[in-house]
Amino acid sequence: MISEGKTKKVEDLGSEVILHFKDDITAGDGAKHDVLEKKGTICSEITSRLMKYLNEKGVHTMFLEYLPPNKIRAKKLKMIPLEVIVRFKKAGSFIRRYGGNEGEELPAPLVEFTYKNDQLHDPLMCVEHLEVLGITNREIALKIIEEAKKAGIHLKEFFEKHGLELWDMKFEFGIDENGQVCLGDEISPDTMRLRKSGEIFDKDIYRRDLGNPLEKYEVVLNLCQSISL
Ligand code: 5GP
Repeated sequence: MISEGKTKKVEDLGSEVILHFKDDITAGDGAKHDVLEKKGTICSEITSRLMKYLNEKGVHTMFLEYLPPNKIRAKKLKMIPLEVIVRFKKAGSFIRRYGGNEGEELPAPLVEFTYKNDQLHDPLMCVEHLEVLGITNREIALKIIEEAKKAGIHLKEFFEKHGLELWDMKFEFGIDENGQVCLGDEISPDTMRLRKSGEIFDKDIYRRDLGNPLEKYEVVLNLCQSISL
């Protein structure tokens, strides 16, 4: 194992890695933590199918193979320590910072960078921060914005076809062995806000203490199973 995060372990195979999705769920920068049986299985399969979908749409992702029940074989990336948020509707930290009402449409898709650091509570960063602090250069930052928007729009269209609204999501990107920007990490109800006329299908169920979210995660998994692996 080369590393273990809050929800995943990464096993190094040289130019590839095996991501092990754990059953852990956390919120509030790790302040809240539980273990939900089968969560790793559900989120690894959803991630696999959505990354396969994005690969087919021309978005460059790490995904190579789903290894049931809870692992993914993926390209090894040099991860950039950023959370890249794409928003279509106002919610969460956007409303805390800029006001507005939950679910209000933004006039255009918005990409935000936050520095992946629980102790600092993931502070918001602009491209200047990324350059001056040596996190990444402007060219890569602009490429990430482009890829994040493209991935977000494809995912929004996918969920729309299945009757769910994708409000926002968090991506993590890295650089592959050819120096290309590549989408890594996870795409699941843990990392997105998915709604249907007031009903919540994502990690806000857990964040807001509204019960076990896995029943809703399974609904998301079922509709992702329309994507073949
Ligand atoms: P917000 O910044 O409004 O809290 O979150 C925006 C979107 O990014 C939401 O879909 C949320 O689930 C996701 N997101 C933001 N930060 C994190 C994080 O640290 N972990 C996970 N899993 N998702 C996050």
